[in-house]
Amino acid sequence: VIRDMQLPQELKEAPEFEDFNNARDELMRQASQDFLTGLKNRQYLRLAEPRWVSRGSQPFAVFFIDLDNFKNINDSHGHSYGDILLKQVAERLLSIFSSDDLVCRQGGDEFIVISRRCDDDSITSLASAVLQSLASPYYVEKYNFVMGASIGVARFPRDGDSFETLFSAADTAMYQAKNVKNSFYVFSSELREELLETTDIQQALPQALEDGEFSLVYQPQVLDGQVPVGVEALIRWKNGDLGQVPPDRFIRVSEGNGMIIDIGHFVIDRALMDLADINEHHYCKSLHLSINVSIRQLQETGFTERLALSLETHGFPASQLTLEITEGIFIDDLQYLIPVLCDIRELGVRLSMDDFGTGYSSLSLLKQLPIDELKIDKSFVDNIATRNEDRLMVLNIIDIAQNLGIKVVAEGIEQAEQSSMLLELGCQLQQGYFYCGPVDLEQLIEYCE
Ligand code: C2E
Ligand code: CA
Ligand code: CA
Repeated sequence: VIRDMQLPQELKEAPEFEDFNNARDELMRQASQDFLTGLKNRQYLRLAEPRWVSRGSQPFAVFFIDLDNFKNINDSHGHSYGDILLKQVAERLLSIFSSDDLVCRQGGDEFIVISRRCDDDSITSLASAVLQSLASPYYVEKYNFVMGASIGVARFPRDGDSFETLFSAADTAMYQAKNVKNSFYVFSSELREELLETTDIQQALPQALEDGEFSLVYQPQVLDGQVPVGVEALIRWKNGDLGQVPPDRFIRVSEGNGMIIDIGHFVIDRALMDLADINEHHYCKSLHLSINVSIRQLQETGFTERLALSLETHGFPASQLTLEITEGIFIDDLQYLIPVLCDIRELGVRLSMDDFGTGYSSLSLLKQLPIDELKIDKSFVDNIATRNEDRLMVLNIIDIAQNLGIKVVAEGIEQAEQSSMLLELGCQLQQGYFYCGPVDLEQLIEYCE
């Protein structure tokens, strides 16, 4: 407004006008600066946009940087600590990027950097430098913190032709990075396709439960290479338009929109009913049942009570039920989770850590969580007969489990050599295509009999 004011000529020539001009510049500067860190702010970005994205503009990269676990630090140490941390983050960012780059605080613990250095190598080296720099310890008064960051990168013009579309692409890529933590992810057309598919899934999910499109298959767990003693329930979804959608795809989406709660209860009830039925009427008596649950399900208030009710309704003994939880998503939610897991165990239900060894904090989690079983991930089993390192790894996992009094199950066994090697190493409980893939109820009964 000040800039655009039409001023009379005599005022412009007056000596006070110099001051007026300075004051105006100062106001402009303040309005475009983040008061805490001194970086450029969102307001500034909006004003700068036309310079960057007009037709024929040079290519550039947008780095969307989000701190991992910043909220925890803020909550536990207070906002003034958080503020000091954010200032240090800003300094670190400024030391990596050059004065030609635009370094902004988008708000909260989110930062955006726009840089002309946007070839693949530059993006990789800049993002790596940011990750490395932000991950080194912060000293604030008498505490020191470590904090990671997740970065999403989008490129102009290929990923969007406005700041809005570019930021949204970078934000999407950032969420992919968040799954791994302390990493970066560059937006791609595959990711865009996956997002479109996600939208389709989101739209089809709510009706799917009502229309009975979900079903369960069961994969046997075999003791000593011979006797089926349990099964893992695995969900299947067949939709009219989308066809068979793999659980890896739709479970994640359903966790995002909360549908997993209802889907999860469907799985629990159907599996308990099926297994109670098998155990009563068939040769394969007292089969154990393992059910996958996601963390999101455990966050529902009353989950344990509802589980107890389901067990009672179907007359299935709690001691024959195991809930499998994936370790990868644990870390953020420990305080909340531990009491819930303890309640579940109070019922007599066991807990298994799925995909063990693939997350980055497996061992520390094992120490903190009330766990009865480990599932050795398929990625170790794959090379167990051929790679010494993998064999040693599995041997160590089995060793640790035995010391802690925890059961081990190996999954993804596809070959006889893998099975016998695991038996030799002391893993008696095994699951995989070598024995039997996931099958429907009838086939399961046949297999067991
Ligand atoms: P998971 O819990 O690790 O399940 C094992 C996956 O490996 C299953 O894939 C299974 O079919 C597959 N598999 C088993 N043996 C072999 C083998 O020898 N070779 C190979 N290549 N694969 C094998 P599926 O059924 O596609 O499930 C994928 C993931 O989806 C599961 O991984 C689990 O995380 C999730 N999921 C499946 N059902 C449910 C459910 O009811 N609730 C929840 N929350 N998640 C589920
Ligand atoms: Ca599982
Ligand atoms: Ca698994």
